[in-house]
Amino acid sequence: YLPQLEWERQLSGRMPLKARMLANENPYGPSPKCVEAIAASASAGNRYQHEAAQQLKGMIAAFEGVPEDYIMITPGSSEVLEKMALVHFQEGGNVVAADPTYMSLIKVVIGMGGSWNKVKVTDDWAHDLAGMRSAINADTKLVYVCNPNNPTGTLTDSDALAAFCREVADETPVFVDEAYLEFLPDHRAKTMVPLIREGKDVIVARTFSKIHGMAGLRVGYAVARPETLEKVGRISRGNMGLCKTSLEGAMASMEDETFQETSRQQTAAFREQVYAGLEGMGMEYLPSYASFVLFPIPLGGEVFLEQMFDRGIGVRSFSIHGDDYCRVSVGKPEEVDLFLTALRQVLA
Ligand code: PLP
Repeated sequence: YLPQLEWERQLSGRMPLKARMLANENPYGPSPKCVEAIAASASAGNRYQHEAAQQLKGMIAAFEGVPEDYIMITPGSSEVLEKMALVHFQEGGNVVAADPTYMSLIKVVIGMGGSWNKVKVTDDWAHDLAGMRSAINADTKLVYVCNPNNPTGTLTDSDALAAFCREVADETPVFVDEAYLEFLPDHRAKTMVPLIREGKDVIVARTFSKIHGMAGLRVGYAVARPETLEKVGRISRGNMGLCKTSLEGAMASMEDETFQETSRQQTAAFREQVYAGLEGMGMEYLPSYASFVLFPIPLGGEVFLEQMFDRGIGVRSFSIHGDDYCRVSVGKPEEVDLFLTALRQVLA
């Protein structure tokens, strides 16, 4: 992976971009109702906001069908990833996780002195659940599963994942990152939250950054057993990391189901537009269930990125098992046109 700081340096040197398709942001958000709620609540910013945090927690608990002490609200789900790594790896150990996958939690594990026990994804880019089960050993403190996965956009069968969690979570906690799950029309049937209700040591992370288009407003949450959240509570800032306007925005956005549905449909249309463009160039791609598409590129990732940035198009590159790939995040149709035009030029 291109080191994050280097990527940010490249990006900041090239702003403004004509099309910013590099961080899986939602170009349509936040919802107008969210913006309205933020504006209306800004003047209450002189007070700490324990009441608003409690109110959002109640809404999320009702949505997830769990008691309120199963929910922890955080400034973005990155905080859930970080805090779970902190509490599980105080004495080292390994995290069993796919290769490739989203690196945020794994980076903290390594920073804490732990290690990444990586399990290559299957030929169809799903999690190799049997391989992950065999990779669990006496030093494993956590299993991390990102579904749909990032950067691949691919999905692991939810029945198989639930069976996997049932089998391993009594011994080893399983962290399921559902940042992109809501882009599936039937996401309510595919979440792992019911396992937590059953008492399994499963942690589900969700975010308002993706389908709600609130990446810069920083709201995410964990669903987990109260005893797990209690451990995190000992080292967390509680509500002190939360901000009134974002809490109010999140509540308004939860109620705006039309916006979420539109986001879902626009993201599906984005994927189709990218697929058609790539097919027109004779390129391959990984069919995606998320808000981005990964495809192999016939030149080095860094050179490719440079050339795309030179044309004002921000995307990301990944080196996966020795091959180079581009990940393009959801953009508006006119941005996808600009991306495809630049891609044609770079490949020519
Ligand atoms: N999990 C996954 C899989 C992601 O791709 C991201 C962001 O891109 C995050 C978590 C963190 O997002 P946030 O902290 O904005 O909720």
